[in-house]
Amino acid sequence: MRIVRFSPGPNSGLGTDPLFGLLEEDGTNISVIAGDPIYAGMSKTGAVTQLSDVRLLAPVIPRSKVVCIGKNYADHAAEMGSDVPSEPIIFLKPNTSVIGPNDTIVWPAMSERVDHEAELAIVIGRICKDVPRERVNDVIFGYTVANDVTARDLQKKDGQWSRAKGFDTFCPLGPWIDTDFIPGTQRITASVNNESKQDARLNQMIFGVPEIIQFVSQVMTLLPGDVILTGTPAGIGALQPQGTVTVAIEGLGELTNRVSARG
Ligand code: MG
Repeated sequence: MRIVRFSPGPNSGLGTDPLFGLLEEDGTNISVIAGDPIYAGMSKTGAVTQLSDVRLLAPVIPRSKVVCIGKNYADHAAEMGSDVPSEPIIFLKPNTSVIGPNDTIVWPAMSERVDHEAELAIVIGRICKDVPRERVNDVIFGYTVANDVTARDLQKKDGQWSRAKGFDTFCPLGPWIDTDFIPGTQRITASVNNESKQDARLNQMIFGVPEIIQFVSQVMTLLPGDVILTGTPAGIGALQPQGTVTVAIEGLGELTNRVSARG
């Protein structure tokens, strides 16, 4: 199933508040769901609208946290001048950094260089702690596409990453949550102004989804709606002011965002 969150069209009769919906198999019709399916289940209200009539929003708004894995592809660790880590490196992005498809990444005045990082995102469906790797599917709600936007100059300057990774708008997510996606050898790509920059396969991750959830949940309790970004492959590079950036994962979806003028 593909779950979207959206602002209804002005003539839909569905009001003005954001809604959740199920994107039907035809890829066109959206069946409205009563409440947030992560907390309230998947009951349809009977209302139907069309994908072309709505504005998609981030499919999940984490109430608690976005956990990120650093240097999880060997070729990316190499381009950063780092060794392959022996255990996952984790950091956090604030939930206030989340934006949705087609929203604008705002270039902060503090930074000269803002980069894209194409990543697979895991959406957690239930509260959990110390999840064994063979049980991770019990706690995964689904997957979406993410861009771990990073002020690269500030990352180097600060020595830790809270500022560089934490600006408002620095965590685009979408276009939907796919509850049936199974990570394997799918292609993950990023392009800037339609020019290819990152092109890898999900099975090039050093730590796979089971290891990541096991590790992170040994550190912190995971809550429904938490999101885990699984790291980016080689090919990171700068966004272009007033340009666009697209992250795509084969079989999952494509996430495009505009970029503001330099701050
Ligand atoms: Mg990253």
